[in-house]
Amino acid sequence: MPVINSQGQITFPSEWKKFMGGIKVGEYIYYYIQQSEQKIIISKNCVTFDARAPFLKNNLITIPHNIRKVCNLQNGDRLTFTYDLIKDTVYIMKAQDTFECEICNEEGNLQGYPCIVCEGKGRFKLETWSNELTRLFRMGYKYGINISIINTNTIHLPDNEVANIFPVIQIESSNFPIEVLEKFQDYYQKRAIRVRGEEESQDF
Ligand SMILES: [Zn+2]
Repeated sequence: MPVINSQGQITFPSEWKKFMGGIKVGEYIYYYIQQSEQKIIISKNCVTFDARAPFLKNNLITIPHNIRKVCNLQNGDRLTFTYDLIKDTVYIMKAQDTFECEICNEEGNLQGYPCIVCEGKGRFKLETWSNELTRLFRMGYKYGINISIINTNTIHLPDNEVANIFPVIQIESSNFPIEVLEKFQDYYQKRAIRVRGEEESQDF
């Protein structure tokens, strides 16, 4: 996935260069912003365009300054290339680190109850565990959900053995059906186990 450098340039992916019928050095690429859909149409022959930039050596191209400004593209941002079959256009857009919410199947709700994992959006950003917990507590406060995290770091087993266990997450509310709460709890519990697993693998 191409990354915008400090000069506002990207390395044009060779497969997309081929897809667009090849692009010669010095040939113009035209940019047209579709603001409603947050995407930028790129073309070798655009009738209407917002900006254009010549194709540079080494497959480099500068995303014109006004395009970067309007689309809030900055150094380090990644771009995705897509082809719209119906409109027969290639467009680029800022890659978002969002994922489909599997808890609600991207619906944003379960049986009509808001999905607290994605905040009802159907997609969510993968965040650090502490940020995710903050979101969980915020959602709990908003929807009247009781969240308890029983953080038992170590337990003592017989024969003086010590075992690390993960935090136990409990999600309770009288505003949601049990089966919906179970899905939330399951997600956060698995996430907690994964986080603990990652922490442990870092230790070794
Ligand atoms: Zn969801």
